[in-house]
Amino acid sequence: MIRINIATLFPEMCEAVLSESIIGRARKADVVEIACRDIRNYTLNKHRRVDDKAYGGGTGMVMQAQPIYDCVMSIISDLGENARPRLIYMSPQGRKLDQSLVKELAAEDDLIILCGHYEGVDKRVLDELAFEEVSTGDYVVTGGELPALILTDAVCRLQEGVLPNEDAYSNESHYNGLLEYPQYTRPEEWRGRRVPEVLISGHHANIKKWQDEQSLAVTKEKRPDLLK
Ligand code: SAM
Repeated sequence: MIRINIATLFPEMCEAVLSESIIGRARKADVVEIACRDIRNYTLNKHRRVDDKAYGGGTGMVMQAQPIYDCVMSIISDLGENARPRLIYMSPQGRKLDQSLVKELAAEDDLIILCGHYEGVDKRVLDELAFEEVSTGDYVVTGGELPALILTDAVCRLQEGVLPNEDAYSNESHYNGLLEYPQYTRPEEWRGRRVPEVLISGHHANIKKWQDEQSLAVTKEKRPDLLK
């Protein structure tokens, strides 16, 4: 079972999302193990500070190395001496997250995900612990929590027992380099728009052929770059 530890200044924010829906149920069923650690609990500062002004000036604050280091070392020690966790810092400067990186991370036993805030974190702790950086896209959000939740959700849904069966994710967009075919549900007609006849024909081979053709057509139309 994969174990994911998230080091954050906002554990409640992560817990709120990770306790709901499919991932929440997977945690309860012990199919994945996810824990959120509050970096603030590791500060040695008597005022519980975890950040300070940036050397060289600038408006924002920078998260200090010491609380992050101690938090991550404590997680590593709790994982046990045989654990070889992959250390990931969510960062707009990192490798862009895509389904192939998700599959790669989903095969790990342990992930430790660090969420930055403010101007980011002191570079020395990233170097000291050899964090790899992962980005959810070329934009900047206020903290690493939302990106960490995206990564965690994407990795967890590939774990055995999280979704009903492998078909639930292997047909989906990006898994095999294509986008998924369009989906329809009841009623058969809505505001004059009918569900494609083939889908209500009951002819499985024709349905599969239609879905494959649509998948290719949708990819060609929306993301031609994926076909290259
Ligand atoms: N000063 C940093 C820079 O320009 O590269 C940006 C800091 S950002 C305001 C605060 C935190 O949000 C970062 O430390 C990172 O953890 C997270 N973050 C922001 N955008 C992200 C993205 N696109 N992907 C992953 N993490 C991101």
